[in-house]
Amino acid sequence: MPETGRARDARGYSMKEHIGWALIGASNVARQWIVDAIRVQNDSSIVTVLSSSEERGAKFANENAIPAHVTDIGAILADDRVNAVYISTANQFHHAQTMAAAAAGKHVLCEKPLALRVTDAHDMIAACRTAGVVLGINHHLRCNAMHQELRRLLAEGAIGRLNAVRVFHANFLAQALHGWRINDAGGGGLILDSTIHDIDTLRFLIGSNPTHVMAMTQSGRLAHDGVEDGIMVIMRFPGDVLVQIHGSYTVPFSEGGVEFYGSDGVLVGRDCMSQRPAGRLFIRNADGEREIPIHHHNLYHYALATFSGAVRGRGQPAATGEDGLAALAIALAIRESALTGRQIEVDIP
Ligand code: NDP
Repeated sequence: MPETGRARDARGYSMKEHIGWALIGASNVARQWIVDAIRVQNDSSIVTVLSSSEERGAKFANENAIPAHVTDIGAILADDRVNAVYISTANQFHHAQTMAAAAAGKHVLCEKPLALRVTDAHDMIAACRTAGVVLGINHHLRCNAMHQELRRLLAEGAIGRLNAVRVFHANFLAQALHGWRINDAGGGGLILDSTIHDIDTLRFLIGSNPTHVMAMTQSGRLAHDGVEDGIMVIMRFPGDVLVQIHGSYTVPFSEGGVEFYGSDGVLVGRDCMSQRPAGRLFIRNADGEREIPIHHHNLYHYALATFSGAVRGRGQPAATGEDGLAALAIALAIRESALTGRQIEVDIP
């Protein structure tokens, strides 16, 4: 129940508790996952959506029952009903839009990559901290219940000392997404779109950052202008743990997964690299193989629940700005390795 003595909005919610959202970007991911994830949270509503196109904004607002649409971010920044923004524009806009939102005192849930440059990510974190607003980043895979159980098992030593990890994250990019991902050498490409999720998931599961990375990429099966559409990465994590990632936009019929090899056993996660609440987890050791039951939840509902809690002063977003910066720094080191053919030491400022 709303507390007495506090300002209330029209629905009777405490203004401190109610989260009025603006969607910055009339995007696929907002339509498919985030609109619903916001609406299932307590005391939350979507006030408006920003699109650079009046026509696209109107269509998006109409199709998603959002009461207003704007083409100018200034209208959102000046709107007192908005206290949080979800930024899901193309990657090159995340930095400027986050800086503007923070300066206006709006909490920010930003899509990955946080920015295109580490220095920009750094500025975004500092700006949100100075403004006293929450900055979260939507690395959804750490919200998957299977990965959360896998992390718990690794931390309790279920497979002994970790030796090596393999990540399988190849699929065939849906036709609807054959835009900036495959033709924008600046903001597109597999590394900042998909490999960065693998990186965040590995950081979440292993609990540390890689020290060194090496990578080779493919291009030209689907992407053009040198934009990568396939990748193999090798990384070294602290404790001499070797990690391999295969990622691709061009492999149909593949199933995403992870394998963790330890001194006392193996943990295998299957079908666990998508946006769906899916994934089966198996442990194999001297006792044989056993499936570990997972009680799945919607990844985006979870992300929005943790972010909303943080806005209300309870806990942190599932992935923080610092997580976004670390994943970006590692992703850029991977890209540098692919471009130069050298092993790159990872530097996370
Ligand atoms: P979209 O391509 O759907 O949307 C990105 C922007 O492109 C929109 O903000 C929109 O600009 C513009 N746009 C959308 N439709 C059209 C169109 N028909 N013609 C021209 N421009 C259009 O992006 P995604 O939803 O695929 O990705 C958005 C962000 O979310 C990216 O940063 C991506 O990395 C991230 N993402 C994250 C996922 C996750 O699970 N965490 C999953 C998918 C993406 P405008 O608003 O000005 O109309």
